[in-house]
Amino acid sequence: MERRALLEVKHLNSFYEEGNGILSAGKRRKQVLQDVSFSLYQGEVLGLVGESGSGKTTLSRAIVGLLRDYTGELLLHTATPPQMVFQDPYSSLNPAHTIGWILEEPLRVKGGMSKAGRKAQVGEMLDKIGLGPEYAHRKPHELSGGQRQRVAIAAAVIAGPELLVADEPVSALDVTIQAQILELLLSLRQELQLSYLFISHDLNEMMEQCSTLTVLRDGVIIDNMEKKDFPKGTKPREIFVYTCERIAEPLIPLGYKYRKSKNDIYKKDGIFVFSFYFSPSIRFGSTTFTAFFDVSSPVIAQWRSEQEGTEETYDGIVGTSIARLTHRYDDFPRYEVSTLLERERSIQEISGQIQDYALPFFARFSNLPKLLDDVEQEGFFPHRKGFDVPKRNREFIECFREYLQKQ
Ligand code: ADP
Ligand code: MG
Repeated sequence: MERRALLEVKHLNSFYEEGNGILSAGKRRKQVLQDVSFSLYQGEVLGLVGESGSGKTTLSRAIVGLLRDYTGELLLHTATPPQMVFQDPYSSLNPAHTIGWILEEPLRVKGGMSKAGRKAQVGEMLDKIGLGPEYAHRKPHELSGGQRQRVAIAAAVIAGPELLVADEPVSALDVTIQAQILELLLSLRQELQLSYLFISHDLNEMMEQCSTLTVLRDGVIIDNMEKKDFPKGTKPREIFVYTCERIAEPLIPLGYKYRKSKNDIYKKDGIFVFSFYFSPSIRFGSTTFTAFFDVSSPVIAQWRSEQEGTEETYDGIVGTSIARLTHRYDDFPRYEVSTLLERERSIQEISGQIQDYALPFFARFSNLPKLLDDVEQEGFFPHRKGFDVPKRNREFIECFREYLQKQ
């Protein structure tokens, strides 16, 4: 079947004016989107992901005609204007009007319907979004966040657009409500034959439905993949290296280095060495890996060698799967990076665990006396399985108490 493009974005550059214009004579133009090009096809759910500030909202505003300062082309091949669902259901509904009025408004603007016809359609729509007819008489402030987002979605689709732009439609909502709203968006898509540009900073359930995934980074499209797959000929090793680079990126300003040949991210800080290690398994064209953290020190290697009168230079202190730091995992999860979606999800999960658990864990080493007391009382959590944990803890305490005394 011939694919029909509903939207073509060609070489889009967008700008915001910076500076207040009172002190500075001329305002500066800050470029946000840089040479963005992609197409969205009929029936498609195009997932747009990117970190906060990457330009997702700017792009969606451009598509629905809310942005003036841009160059390049935005070609819409639709009979009806695209509609947008905003992130924040608290500010996107007019507080002065009833839900009935708000839902009827797009039909009034569209024209060609009797008042009775409009009312009937509003009633049907309320039913579709799971709110009873009595909600027609309520005002936005009487509704919960989830109910308001239902109304915002209904208002966006009621006049029959072909393309819906949903800009992080669930991220402002309670987690328990998020799945319901995603479910609603999915069911409406089927029922109303909608195409979606679905924006998220987080690869959630809706992303499973995406036929194309576009990754935006600092205003530039860094990936635009159909069917969630990498182009033919992409080497698994390249995917793995790219994944490690992306995980390393936020750690670089903290003094870490990505060592490609060692598959690790590494930092020497005083007498301790902190690292993350990624162990890839590339088989039959599929790539998975496990992710570990490790703390070591030349001080303990020296101490062990003196203790045992051997040449042993083993410098390990503590290390295991990064995921075990979360206390939710007992073993080593394997991360899949064989498709773009899996890769992005893996990057997100591991980066989150590093920020929330591993870095705070490493930070405990900056107060050595306190850490020694802690380990004495409760040990390290968690050690790699199969280690002689009591022996490890004892070694750490003895070695570094001695070290502190010598200082
Ligand atoms: P995202 O939706 O991905 O978080 P945005 O599109 O909101 O990103 O923002 C992209 C960049 O543009 C950010 O650096 C942001 O500070 C800037 N920006 C957004 N809106 C404006 C504005 N109205 N004026 C100036 N800069 C803006
Ligand atoms: Mg945004």
